[in-house]
Amino acid sequence: MKLDLSGRVALVTGGSRGIGQAIATALHCAGAKVAVLAKNGAGAQAAARALGDSARGYACDVGDAAQVETVVASVEREVGPIDILVNNAGTRRDNLLFRISDDDWDAVLQTNLKGVFLMMKHAARGMIKRRAGRIINITSVVGMAGNAGQSNYSASKAGLIGLTKSVAKELASRNVLVNAVAPGFIDTELTRDITPERRQVYEAAIPLGRLGGGRDVASAVLFLASDFASYITGQVLVVDGGMVL
Ligand code: NDP
Repeated sequence: MKLDLSGRVALVTGGSRGIGQAIATALHCAGAKVAVLAKNGAGAQAAARALGDSARGYACDVGDAAQVETVVASVEREVGPIDILVNNAGTRRDNLLFRISDDDWDAVLQTNLKGVFLMMKHAARGMIKRRAGRIINITSVVGMAGNAGQSNYSASKAGLIGLTKSVAKELASRNVLVNAVAPGFIDTELTRDITPERRQVYEAAIPLGRLGGGRDVASAVLFLASDFASYITGQVLVVDGGMVL
């Protein structure tokens, strides 16, 4: 069996940079036509242009129901029926419990959890009709283990695991497979503001001895999107160099 996604359409949220860009690139290299979504449309379009003619970029705030409904319809019309949905868009506003404002709580939950609910709700309709689809949600090891200073982010990522497992049970009979990937510490813009001291602490806690890269996460997504994973649903695949064991 060969890992070949030719003829499939993949939608990657937050595909303009970091892990999402690595995922979009991996899916494109495996032959899929890729739609890249980001809040900033110019960023999404630049990432799509870098992939080539078969890719397209779209502006969409995944936390906004009307925008999600519109963009899913546009992608299905302009790129094709969505076979693979990767919910990667995410944000964080870290602080200790008593310093998290209501806005910081809402903004993180809106993008990281409600955004995935909205994307699945709209993109899964066609998958159900066609009796085929793959949904891969990017959670985090902190959704499993928790992390001081990230209670809003951890709650959103833990919620995402429950959401993934529930929707996996709902859609299994329609051959729509829903899984999550839980990265550990991946070197992207999202983690670049962490102090060098904190970074050293994380590095020391990773048995494989290095931070992950976007490609490490993309490989796991590629597997779950492929025919190699056709009997796997409702699972969380941890990609963390052994950090949380
Ligand atoms: P980056 O900050 O580098 O990229 C985030 C991406 O999401 C950008 O494309 C951004 O585009 C997009 N985005 C953010 N908010 C929205 C929104 N409301 N609607 C649409 N797009 C949005 O993050 P990473 O690549 O590091 O992280 C990607 C995912 O992996 C996230 O879900 C993150 O939680 C998760 N993760 C990351 C880890 C890490 O160590 N880096 C560890 C574990 C999980 P724009 O700015 O245009 O909105």
